[in-house]
Amino acid sequence: YTVPLPKNEPVLSYAPGSSERANLKKALEEARSKQADIPMYIGAEEVRTGKKKPLNPPHDHQHLLGHFHEGDASHVEQAINAALGAKEAWAELAWEHRASIFLKAADLLAGPYRAKINAATMLGQSKNAFQAEIDSACELIDFLRFNAHYMVQIYQDQPESSPGVWNRLEYRPLEGFVFAITPFNFTAIAGNLPASAALMGNTVVWKPAFTQIYSAQVIMEVFKEAGLPDGVINLVYVDGPTAGGVIFNHPDFAGLHFTGSTGVFKNLWKTIGQNIDKYKTYPRIVGETGGKDFIMAHKSANAKELATAIVRGAFEYQGQKCSAASRVYVPSNLWDDVKKYIQEDLKSIKMGVTEDFSNFVNAVIDERAFDKIASYIDRVKANDMNDIVAGGNYDKSKGYFIEPTVVHSKDPQSLTMCEEIFGPVVTIYVYQAERYEETLELVNSTSPYALTGSILAKDRYAIELASKKLVNAAGNFYINDKPTGAVVGQQPFGGSRASGTNDKAGSALNLLRWVSPRTIKETF
Ligand code: GLU
Repeated sequence: YTVPLPKNEPVLSYAPGSSERANLKKALEEARSKQADIPMYIGAEEVRTGKKKPLNPPHDHQHLLGHFHEGDASHVEQAINAALGAKEAWAELAWEHRASIFLKAADLLAGPYRAKINAATMLGQSKNAFQAEIDSACELIDFLRFNAHYMVQIYQDQPESSPGVWNRLEYRPLEGFVFAITPFNFTAIAGNLPASAALMGNTVVWKPAFTQIYSAQVIMEVFKEAGLPDGVINLVYVDGPTAGGVIFNHPDFAGLHFTGSTGVFKNLWKTIGQNIDKYKTYPRIVGETGGKDFIMAHKSANAKELATAIVRGAFEYQGQKCSAASRVYVPSNLWDDVKKYIQEDLKSIKMGVTEDFSNFVNAVIDERAFDKIASYIDRVKANDMNDIVAGGNYDKSKGYFIEPTVVHSKDPQSLTMCEEIFGPVVTIYVYQAERYEETLELVNSTSPYALTGSILAKDRYAIELASKKLVNAAGNFYINDKPTGAVVGQQPFGGSRASGTNDKAGSALNLLRWVSPRTIKETF
């Protein structure tokens, strides 16, 4: 028997008057009307340290969502011990029972918890209702369901045998515990990184970004309600250096499942390298990191479609997707129209709090992000080679609001053409339409990253040339679309170069990293 191939969870529309909209409004009001007191989850315990840290919506400094209890090194030790203590029973549990827990969690998210987790993502991470729906509902549900399906496919992949010999592959989990470090920008990723390793029989210490704790707690509640045994996933709120100091010195550290910045990932990799003699096994290192994702357009592209791809690709979730379009190459014949369409489109887009469903743009995640993005905008303004075509204003008095900002740069190597900003700023370089091939070289060589990228063209030869020249420039390559919004089961997600280890999230490739197979040869 098997886990049948699931269908993607349908995206609800939240149209005015719909029941899902009413439910979500109610969940938002309920969350806003009380103050959460969020514990860590270690083994069977809900741990409240008393070191309370406030949680505020990024778009509303005045409002207090509640507190979380911060832990220290001793809690990381406890979490490792809980993970190791739970390991044997969990690894021995037949796969259908492990699958069943996560499939039930998916159903809980699709049904009774949908409004709650979306409200938590909207308030805690400042996503609009649609962005929350495609993330904390649909993508997380899809990860859980598709992973269960892929797990069985992996287990069924067995070697050849011959008369008198029966060969088998036993897909054991890793020996030790897995450490999951998760980002603020996708609730789905935060849930998937610990869950995918756990599904394959591992036990996990999970450290979310402090800015995502409000929805992480809901994920944990759902896993518990679905029947996840104590100690399989242990959720701790500890700063990175403290957690790393304990985890990376532990002999049973067996794997890192990471999404976050390139700089942090490289440092972790170095630390793991330095400590390699301490470990019982070579740890698996899986990371999805930064991006400087491109849209490249050919002179045959449609200007309106290109403008839409730029606005959607660059400004959904305030550009805080690793996949967000942040450098764009527009051929000279299209520029006037593209500029006009972008400006028109942005005029119709509203910015504000997530509770008002008509706002497309909300706040960036925190003050550090706000200051960093604002400083890029200031440096753009100070450079004569740049022209701000739309946006350029920011204000953190009520929330961390930054206008969607479009820069036209005459220098293809300018600061904002090259560096990852992780905010609502996109830079456009207009190239001579006849210099298509040279510009493809430029696209390929301008950035150390290789996460996502798009080619927009009607000319089939131009599409093929881009596909060849940019073969290593993006792990997710889009033809005539924006470079964001990968769907589990349809576009396995991940990049190479400085963007990560490319162990595609939501695919068998990723799950294979969480097993350590034993080959058995039996002779009759
Ligand atoms: N999978 C997301 C997308 O395709 C991006 C994930 C990320 O930002 O890490 O848009």
